[in-house]
Amino acid sequence: MVMAVDENACHPNVAGPSDLRKGHGKRECPKVGSPEREEKQRRAGDIVLTGPQTSPRKGYGQKVPADLAMVKEVDPLPWYSMADLDVGMRLGSGKFGSVYVARDRRSGFLFALKVLHKSQLIKHKVEHQLRREIEIQAHLKHVNILNLFSYFYDSDRVYLMLELAPGGELYSLLQQRQRFSEARSAWYFKQMVEAVMYCHSKHIIHRDIKPENILIGLKDTLKIADFGWAVHAPSSRRETFCGTLDYLPPEMVKNAKYHSRVDVWGLGVLLYEFLVGKPPFEDKHGGQEETCKKIKKSSVQFPNFISREAKDLIRKLLAKNHAERPSLLEALNHPWVKMNCDGHAEMLQKHYGGYLPSK
Ligand code: AMP
Repeated sequence: MVMAVDENACHPNVAGPSDLRKGHGKRECPKVGSPEREEKQRRAGDIVLTGPQTSPRKGYGQKVPADLAMVKEVDPLPWYSMADLDVGMRLGSGKFGSVYVARDRRSGFLFALKVLHKSQLIKHKVEHQLRREIEIQAHLKHVNILNLFSYFYDSDRVYLMLELAPGGELYSLLQQRQRFSEARSAWYFKQMVEAVMYCHSKHIIHRDIKPENILIGLKDTLKIADFGWAVHAPSSRRETFCGTLDYLPPEMVKNAKYHSRVDVWGLGVLLYEFLVGKPPFEDKHGGQEETCKKIKKSSVQFPNFISREAKDLIRKLLAKNHAERPSLLEALNHPWVKMNCDGHAEMLQKHYGGYLPSK
């Protein structure tokens, strides 16, 4: 089945101008707890919501944190089944299943359908992690965060209905280009800082910011797509060790307490990787101990082509002591970001695409 991406199509359950909606408009959907929905669930089998996706650089010393008692139940979302959808070409696959282009038959709305196999999720004991990922992602609504519209399941699989990101993984683009220009890096960095600021405003720490977890939407808009390691952080500092080794801050490598400034470090590693093409603490021989040592020292080497201003920002973001790292707002106001983005937003949008902030 061939499908074109329709920028104007709205999810039937998303508020928007009704004339943009195709087909029959808002669906009549059984509410959570209603007899109709319960019957659908009974027919579908056990409720087993489970596990996040993996990528080549995932999974170092990961423990599922015993936190998140604070995360609220997911709001009632429309209940779908495969009978409501047309499924098209495969967009990619991960450890627990594949992602396809799909269309809601009634409204014509296009989205990405992630199909996860329960057997794999149970085998890898990631049910709790997927549940948390769904709870978090369903509550976050930001232009730079991949929208989770809804989910459903049957006896063998869990289905996530996600915003379509036609540009694919940022990691693949970076591999193709080897590294990004300073202007493009600043533009991407700004989008990611804004997304993480939004997460922090909702008391969510992401903890695993890296190119593999970022997708490219329409007009080069970046979308954080993976919340497998995100946590809801109401007030206390946490001690859980998780995330990807290359992106771990010293306090997490040392298994010490940490808080939201771990994401400032993660953004520093991300910016370095944009500009240089590889993360700053990577060991040439793939040695994890060497990487840990480098992280603990926070010793960053820069190639000659990196500008003085970019080095200054990265050094600040990668401060060994988390208290010395800038706030996200300070990072956005750094001269390097201003120099590359401010006043040129329209020009940058024309050149790279992306989202133009409202004035
Ligand atoms: P994942 O299982 O999340 O790692 O996804 C596997 C692959 O599917 C990714 O590497 C992407 O290329 C593709 N993919 C995942 N989600 C989306 C999406 N929302 N839109 C477009 N492609 C996607």
